Amino acid sequence: MPVDILVSSLMSANVTSTTANANLADVIQSMIDNHYSCIVVVENGMPIGIITERDIVRLMGLFISDKPECPMLVADVMSVPVATVSEDTVLFEALVISSAQKIRHLPVVTSSGRLVGLVTQSDLAKALFKTYERQREIIEQSVNQRTQELLQANEQLKSLSLLDSLTGLGNRRAMEVDLDHTHSQATRYNRSYSVALFDVDHFKLYNDCYGHKAGDSALRRISDHLLKSIRTCDRLYRYGGEEVLLIMPETTLYGALILVDRILAGLAELKIPHKKSSHGVLTLSCGVASQIEVNGYERWEDLVDLADRGLYASKNNGRNCATIIPPEDAVDDCVPRMHGSKP
Ligand code: GH3
Ligand code: MG
Ligand code: MG
Repeated sequence: MPVDILVSSLMSANVTSTTANANLADVIQSMIDNHYSCIVVVENGMPIGIITERDIVRLMGLFISDKPECPMLVADVMSVPVATVSEDTVLFEALVISSAQKIRHLPVVTSSGRLVGLVTQSDLAKALFKTYERQREIIEQSVNQRTQELLQANEQLKSLSLLDSLTGLGNRRAMEVDLDHTHSQATRYNRSYSVALFDVDHFKLYNDCYGHKAGDSALRRISDHLLKSIRTCDRLYRYGGEEVLLIMPETTLYGALILVDRILAGLAELKIPHKKSSHGVLTLSCGVASQIEVNGYERWEDLVDLADRGLYASKNNGRNCATIIPPEDAVDDCVPRMHGSKP
């Protein structure tokens, strides 16, 4: 059972905001005077951007490199789009969003999108710590019912885990939260994003040939390779047994294919032996799908389904390759467009 702590109980409701056409110097002065680490930029009460210490550091960079045009308005330096969470977001979801997107400040909005508060990564960390502490107390106090309490506490701790224990990638539950958030933000702000579904080729044969333990360590090596290959804003999740989902925010199909191609080629170059595969080494097959800026899919599940169909086509086309099925062709008898690299 997930621990039911809502963001609204952690947020500070007293959040300072400004507007995009406000004078930047005034805003920075106010941040200095009041020790604010960020200021939310609003339009009609709704967050449209955020100015954080990171933006100020970026601005300092402009000064240092002596750029002739110095930004003067908030709109010139604010970070957009701003990731927000709703009041009824639970602690686990907020943890996923802030850690996946490396966000330290999350504006909290009502169901109609109006700014009502701000929750920081340290608020979330403190709440998580308190949960751990509470569970430790429960364990200490309940000597008589020790086993039952321990099991319960373990379940609660598990429910707050974001990572898959074997691969170190995000787990399936965190993936669903991340996709929910990424998809709704992309839809709201008319942005694109892409997903890629990877599946290890002939992995059953690998286990049969080298043993399950070797299979586990191969999965870890592949995961390490994936983690090393992606950009800082991309996120990896273990989708199933030997399947991994990559979320690429703000990425079009073209950009996604370049990255996926690099990943496939890089793995083949690692030359992890697989004598039962026709490629002689461990390889990945992949399906890629993209959410376009306007009139994209209503649900992320449809996008993942499309990537899954691309993956299926890659398997039928000799494996160790990536396939996209363009949305307009997404009918049962479409011919997959191959895009891949063979060793
Ligand atoms: P294909 O190229 O069509 O994907 O063939 P495949 O053999 O990879 O696919 P299949 O679905 O037949 O088999 C998947 C295998 O992955 C079977 C399963 O035992 C193995 N597997 C799934 N999770 C793990 C794991 O955590 N560790 C190990 N060692 N093997 C796993
Ligand atoms: Mg599979
Ligand atoms: Mg497989």
